[in-house]
Amino acid sequence: MPTLRFHAIKESLASKPIFFEEKERRSDLFGKNVFNEQKMRQYLTKDAFDGVINAIQHGKKIDRKIADQVASSMRDWALSKGVTHYTHWFQPLTGSTAEKHDAFFETIGDGLAIEKFDGGQLVQQEPDASSFPSGGIRNTFEARGYTAWDPSSPAFIYETTLCIPTIFVAYTGEALDYKTPLLRALHAVDNTATAICKYFDKNVKKVTSSLGWEQEYFLIDKMMAASRPDITLTGRTLLGHSSAKGQQLDDHYFGSIPSRALNFMRELENECIVLGIPVKTRHNEVAPNQFELAPIYEEANLAVDHNSLLMDVMGRVASRHNFKVLLHEKPFAGVNGSGKHNNWSLTTDTGVNLLGPGKTPMSNLQFLTFFINTIKGVREYEALLRATIASASNDHRLGANEAPPAIMSIFIGNQLTKVLEELEGVTKGKLSPEEKTELKLNVVGKIPDVLLDNTDRNRTSPFAFTGNKFEFRAVGSTANCGSPMTVLNTIVAKQLKDFKVEVDTLIDEKGLKKDEAIFNVLREYIKSCKDILFEGNGYGEDWEKEAKKRGLSNNKTTPEALKARVSKQSISLFQEMGVMSKVETEARYEIEMESYIKHIQIESRVLGDIARNHIVPTAVRYQNILIENVRGLKEIFEEKYNAVSKEQINLIEEISNHIEAINAKVTKMIDERKKSNSMSDLEKKALNYSFKVKPMFDEIRYHCDKLELLVDDEIWPLTKYREMLFTR
Ligand code: ADP
Ligand code: MG
Repeated sequence: MPTLRFHAIKESLASKPIFFEEKERRSDLFGKNVFNEQKMRQYLTKDAFDGVINAIQHGKKIDRKIADQVASSMRDWALSKGVTHYTHWFQPLTGSTAEKHDAFFETIGDGLAIEKFDGGQLVQQEPDASSFPSGGIRNTFEARGYTAWDPSSPAFIYETTLCIPTIFVAYTGEALDYKTPLLRALHAVDNTATAICKYFDKNVKKVTSSLGWEQEYFLIDKMMAASRPDITLTGRTLLGHSSAKGQQLDDHYFGSIPSRALNFMRELENECIVLGIPVKTRHNEVAPNQFELAPIYEEANLAVDHNSLLMDVMGRVASRHNFKVLLHEKPFAGVNGSGKHNNWSLTTDTGVNLLGPGKTPMSNLQFLTFFINTIKGVREYEALLRATIASASNDHRLGANEAPPAIMSIFIGNQLTKVLEELEGVTKGKLSPEEKTELKLNVVGKIPDVLLDNTDRNRTSPFAFTGNKFEFRAVGSTANCGSPMTVLNTIVAKQLKDFKVEVDTLIDEKGLKKDEAIFNVLREYIKSCKDILFEGNGYGEDWEKEAKKRGLSNNKTTPEALKARVSKQSISLFQEMGVMSKVETEARYEIEMESYIKHIQIESRVLGDIARNHIVPTAVRYQNILIENVRGLKEIFEEKYNAVSKEQINLIEEISNHIEAINAKVTKMIDERKKSNSMSDLEKKALNYSFKVKPMFDEIRYHCDKLELLVDDEIWPLTKYREMLFTR
């Protein structure tokens, strides 16, 4: 008897929703465990407070004296809340968050002890970095890495530990995490965007990049998840026949949330609110047991931290409700996968959303400037943008038959398409007064109106303009948003930098007025980047053909896509914008390629084990029962035996064929794996894993899933799709 499976089902059916009572108003709870501005005002001296605010707003260095003050106030605040430990909290390139806890507790001789935390401990730590991926940046003999305080993301208390958000860099200064390049990219886009804003408003001093992520996930009963070695080890099912009922009836999306899930969500949201994560929206997603959570958008660096923290919090809270959260992009074949939409925009310190149309023609020209430059940037670096969201797990969405496709394109809707068409027709050079009036009144001036009824939505687009922001939808649900946000902000920064040079040249050398110069450059941009715009069905084969004609990349697998990370163009982009050195860029490529290889390798091993140690023995056992039965029939029916056991014998043969196929294919997969492992060239190895090892997964799975339909349900060892997806 497959005890684990039936035990899990029984437990799950018996488990009742664990009621979570919300005792306080969320507005009162918000940020309770965050050392935010309000707490700093309360705990810090004015000098220290000003120092930290200056660091946050202008990147000014914090001197040691002030750091000491901040540290001791943080400690007092933390101790008052029963906290015993502190940690530098960072995001290494493993994909999860890292922390090493130290107690405040320290002995001072004579049997005495104190709680100590000073500026030195706050500002910098030296964790042993040798076990984090570095892409060859650090040799093991120089394994030192540093974490350094990021004052722009406030410290918070999590699980009785004071967590201080930090960057993580090598001894030699290279970034070893997601945050460091992100901060550099945000700085770059601030600089170049602010310079452009000055064409329109001299008062703008700072531009902030904002991010509002939407996190999709699956909730599965904890015991059921634990009963499946594939979910336990890889985060997804490697086999399993689809359930007779899946998502065909469209009855889950926005449906009423089952109360067990709802209690989980309420507790999760409460934890988030206490941690200062401004969660706002929750709903059922398309697939059974799939859900989404979205916060109010925040400054990008903080939003990235909050998403990383959320992924951790989710796991812990889920466990209390006997759930396992699956963040994997494709935990179940045959039903929708999960993504993490990244809503992105730029906002000035004067409160203007640069991707939101304004009220006057001039503010609309500013909107068009940022809108078109973003499109142009994405056009120039589409392959890099694709690369930045590449991973073994996201390959199941991009490039498979799922939204969105691996081709990067931008959806802007009917009406903005028309606006761009009209702008494309603007006369070269100086404009006549009539033309200017026409432009102001009928093209630029009309934008707010057109957007108001711009209800176009295209769910197949990987990058869509949604009224006052762009929505990058191709990001994977497991991803750290830091990577796509770094790339997007960098390419826009670079594009704006080039734009300024071109506009200034027209003003200084051709004597054009500012708005004429801007119109002229934008017109040329539209011409050269409009082939990234696509309003049609992104799944279709037609689009693949059309995209190829347009020269857009279509890299369906991670090893192919990642190459764009280290193209000459990408390396010089990151260098020029001060975001990553060549060494850092190349290191990231290496880390991501290695991570891809390891993921496929692990999946391959797990699948081989399950097929050989669980599926084949079960099939053999059932086959023996059938054989025994046929023997008995022969005894009873004698010469009539053929007529009554024909189907049975066919079944025995069918099972034999599947068993045979599984064994042969697993052997072939292992051989291919060995071949790949012996390759020293990273790219070749990854490609071999992608094109030789991975295709075996589907072949093996096919036969295992067929057996699932043939073999007696009573002895089938793996918890089935219908059980995992439909038990509440
Ligand atoms: P949907 O895309 O699901 O229709 P919305 O348009 O309401 O939903 O917004 C989705 C997400 O976009 C939310 O998480 C929200 O915080 C975020 N968002 C809204 N405005 C901005 C902005 N200016 N910058 C970044 N994110 C934003
Ligand atoms: Mg969305």
